[in-house]
Amino acid sequence: MSVALRDVHKRYGRTKALDGIELRVEEGEFFCLLGPSGAGKTTTLKTVAGLERPDRGSVEIGGRDVRDVEPYDRGVAMCFESYALYPHRSVYDNLASPLRSPRHRLPAAEARDRVGAIAELLGISALLDRPVGQLSNGQRQRVALGRVLVRPARAFLLDEPLSHLDAKLRQQMRAELKAIGAVRRTTTLYVTHDSVEALALGDRIGVIRQGRIVQTGTREDIWYRPHDTEVARAFGRPRINLLPGTVTGGGVFRSADGAVELPLAVPVPRGTEVLVGVRPRDVSLTGDMTGDGHRLAGSVYVTEVLGRSVEVTVRIGAQQLSLVAARSEAGGLRVDDPVRPAVRPESLLVFEADRPERPGRRIERR
Ligand code: ADP
Ligand code: MG
Repeated sequence: MSVALRDVHKRYGRTKALDGIELRVEEGEFFCLLGPSGAGKTTTLKTVAGLERPDRGSVEIGGRDVRDVEPYDRGVAMCFESYALYPHRSVYDNLASPLRSPRHRLPAAEARDRVGAIAELLGISALLDRPVGQLSNGQRQRVALGRVLVRPARAFLLDEPLSHLDAKLRQQMRAELKAIGAVRRTTTLYVTHDSVEALALGDRIGVIRQGRIVQTGTREDIWYRPHDTEVARAFGRPRINLLPGTVTGGGVFRSADGAVELPLAVPVPRGTEVLVGVRPRDVSLTGDMTGDGHRLAGSVYVTEVLGRSVEVTVRIGAQQLSLVAARSEAGGLRVDDPVRPAVRPESLLVFEADRPERPGRRIERR
């Protein structure tokens, strides 16, 4: 079922946790809500689950306003960051107990099959007889996730469900989570502060900041058309380069120190202060770019090996430009070696300069 929040506001005392949330998760969609700690992610999920009441605005599940519907009647299953498990009971009992409630009661054999299948998927089959109190944080987190996925639900609300897993397991579970049949079939609102996770999992992504949704879109939208510099910075490692400067006549960007000049494909009025964004993987070291790569003259500042590629930070006047090159290209580089990286004007993003009160908006192509 679809889940929609319209202009949802929520305060805790003087803290504005939600400041007009607008969100719509379509039936069957896997939607990632991404934002830093304190942005209002958990509060958003709680208003959907009915654990918090909005001060203003509405929540709809399956097109129906749920204002007066009690949490247990909303038919959503939520997995908390701080998992509520029964520590003295076994993993099996923890997983099976939702299926014993009057609401979801299943015949014992069917419940056993369901629990077995979920445990298998989450890699905790060998732990079924262990009391939850004896498990590691990562294992507990998987049990908590299992307790949610085992239930038939109209929507899953998952609050950073992989945050306590070690990197390897997180990567593996990230790959498997979306393949779980129940997840594929069920509307899922998935909260994370990890942009890699959001890009990997989200059919669509909503970026939340200070209780507001800043941008909603597919990963392509977010990647190629970020709303502002902060969204651009949030996605992609190494981070996007953002070079400060102004636009001169003829639509050419010039950095503050004059060392970097780049023709812009976006029409920007002369004299505008901008930040030009270029992703490290869009900069070519050897310049084997087809067509009109624009060359810059600089020198190597730092190199860092990232597995099969190398991040090279190039100094161009007072600017630093980071790029990712193949090891075969960059392996022999030494500090201060001269280089002539090339960028394509079409790959540049142009933003208004950041202000103290808000990050610079992207300037649209026309
Ligand atoms: P997130 O999950 O994105 O980290 P939360 O939704 O938990 O953020 O919190 C949003 C804001 O509301 C934060 O400033 C947080 O401190 C505040 N907050 C959340 N829950 C409460 C509460 N029960 N009482 C007071 N302040 C709260
Ligand atoms: Mg939270």
